[in-house]
Amino acid sequence: MKGAPRARAIAEAVAGGEDPGRYARAALRAAQADTLNCFLHLDPDAVEAQIAGINPQAPLAGVPVALKDNLMDAGQPCGCASRILEGYRASYDATVVARLRDAGAVILGRTNMDEFAMGSSTENSAYGPTRNPHDPTRTPGGSSGGSGAAVAAGICPVALGSETGGSVRQPASLCGVVGLKPTYGRVSRRGLVAFASSLDVVSPFGVDVRDTARIMSVIAGFDPGDPTSLDAPVGNLEAACDRGVAGLKIGIIQECTGEGIEPGVSAALADAARALTDAGASLATVSLPSSPFALAAYCVLAPAEASSNLARFDGIRYGRRAEAESLADLYVRTRSEGFGPEVQRRILLGTFALSAGYADRYYATAQGMAARITREMTAALGEFDLLFCPTSPTVAFPLGARAADPLAMYLADIFTVPASLAGLPAISVPCGRALGLPVGAQLTGPKLGEATLLAAAAVIEAALG
Ligand code: GLN
Repeated sequence: MKGAPRARAIAEAVAGGEDPGRYARAALRAAQADTLNCFLHLDPDAVEAQIAGINPQAPLAGVPVALKDNLMDAGQPCGCASRILEGYRASYDATVVARLRDAGAVILGRTNMDEFAMGSSTENSAYGPTRNPHDPTRTPGGSSGGSGAAVAAGICPVALGSETGGSVRQPASLCGVVGLKPTYGRVSRRGLVAFASSLDVVSPFGVDVRDTARIMSVIAGFDPGDPTSLDAPVGNLEAACDRGVAGLKIGIIQECTGEGIEPGVSAALADAARALTDAGASLATVSLPSSPFALAAYCVLAPAEASSNLARFDGIRYGRRAEAESLADLYVRTRSEGFGPEVQRRILLGTFALSAGYADRYYATAQGMAARITREMTAALGEFDLLFCPTSPTVAFPLGARAADPLAMYLADIFTVPASLAGLPAISVPCGRALGLPVGAQLTGPKLGEATLLAAAAVIEAALG
């Protein structure tokens, strides 16, 4: 595992005259031989076509990158691991895909995910779950589990996923790789299939912190094609990885300690805290009293937005169309056959939460709670440079263990959802093992604070990675 060369080493080799197709072809062979179900689609001709156009001096020259199946790559399938999008092909490149290609990267293929990014294990994929490379009987996490597992399995050094409530940080933690959720708006959403638009962020995985910084530098930055895109300079994120944490104040989130966390996870987090202290940071406990309600708020807000966003999959405009007698019948049949149970559950919940008479009770209350959590986190980040907690309360759980219990599945996101609701950047970095499986430490920063996150993650990585 982690056997593939780093993205930095590949780009350097290609700049130095190495065959620009060497690493992408090797990655393609590894992806074709993959037994973990990381990939839903591979296109060797498309890989060759991209190799032909590589600028050897570009920052990701010759670097293979896996793409979650909800990011558009013109001409390729984009199915969100859903039957309803069977046969659909993307009509344009997502901004992040165009930026990756301009940077010399080779899009390797499309990775498995929970259907429409709803889930924490990839078991909601219409095409079967992905398996964790550290133990194939266990989940890689989700929803971006295919991308996380592809990096952990050494198929490619970097990959893209998407985050709405933890879908890159949680699989990064369970797979033992780095996952960065950028500030909301930091990376363009143009060409990302929408789940909950006010929360969605395209987010990178990396085999280490510096590779994560390299791909983040390429995809981040203003895009006039996304109305929520932030117009702010990205800076040199790779140089930030060498800054260290001397003098930084880091707040340990009190509500994310103790009960409900596996003892091995707590022990690994204690090691990560020690690594930060040893490197010159000062750590103290901070309370976010409303954070225990974040998950409940998320479970109203995300389905509410999803119920509206997914209305476009009606059997007329995209992908699959059911046989039917009337238009209404066509909608009902297409959506009943095309969407899996979790997606149907969320559309129903979201529609209910927005319906007249209930919108104030549920949707407005959840919005109020999200605002409160944002205020508490912003205040804590006035006092501290970063906040610290586990990414996931558990290590990778066995496939099947939570598949029939949506509430148990939602609990996987308990520590990742607060930063999502607040639109703040957060990173998961490996900090050791428990029960022989990877554990991730999570750091959350202020708006546009990605550089500080990477600096602190690099300190943890150096001590425990
Ligand atoms: N696991 C969470 C959910 O099921 C988060 C998903 C995500 O971030 N896309 O909604």
